[in-house]
Amino acid sequence: MKRRDFLIGGALGTMAAGSALAAPAPKGRKPAAPKPKAIIALDAGHGGKDPGTIGVGGTFEKDITFAVARGLAHRLEASGRYQIVLTRTDDSFIALGERVRSARASRAQLFLSLHADSVPNPRQRGFSVYTLADEASDAMTAGLAVRENAVDRLGGLDLSRHPQAVRTILLDLMHRETANNASLMAETVVTKLHPPFTPLQKPHRQANFAVLRAPDIPSILVEMGFLSNLDDEKLLNQTSYQAKLADRLVIALDGFFARVPAA
Ligand SMILES: [Zn+2]
Repeated sequence: MKRRDFLIGGALGTMAAGSALAAPAPKGRKPAAPKPKAIIALDAGHGGKDPGTIGVGGTFEKDITFAVARGLAHRLEASGRYQIVLTRTDDSFIALGERVRSARASRAQLFLSLHADSVPNPRQRGFSVYTLADEASDAMTAGLAVRENAVDRLGGLDLSRHPQAVRTILLDLMHRETANNASLMAETVVTKLHPPFTPLQKPHRQANFAVLRAPDIPSILVEMGFLSNLDDEKLLNQTSYQAKLADRLVIALDGFFARVPAA
């Protein structure tokens, strides 16, 4: 790697350096810093020995989630606005807690988990978007106040110097902001997934899913449709439908990060 590439970052960086030499910035004015890329953790549900739900026609949920996650990651990275962390990069089994841990270790600013649903009623169709249930969320904040395992994410604030009561308030505030942003993202996905995507009744739902429990990363889980329904299963297997879904999710993510800018 050439030194200049290292400093500025790849081929585009080298070009930028060239044009900067040709036209120096006026004195006293610093060139605008590049916008930071938002880091998104994309979580393809299930994998390896865990196929997820199995469709009426034999589709494995893990294959659909992986196909959509990969397509979405490709689009987001190609936009130049995002850095993507995939919680799994192949057909391997990754424990739920490990998915959240890797997202936190990568300092992801949003966690998006992809799944497909299944119910006994074969007529049930449509997508839904989940955020963490309030009770689970409250219990977690209480636990956090004791364990303080979110300290490193509070903008470098050293919580240990504050009294316990202040720590509890700060953690509670952080957690509320996380929950509010998760709701905003869920609502944004619901509004951007218009036809051919059909929503369930009240498509924004709450549940105590383990992958939604990061205290400091807004997290949502999208159930893309029902593999227990023949029509949904057929659509979810179509690459054109998967591509359209990924396109809409990019629009939703752009909308979210327009309101909640990358740090
Ligand atoms: Zn699932």
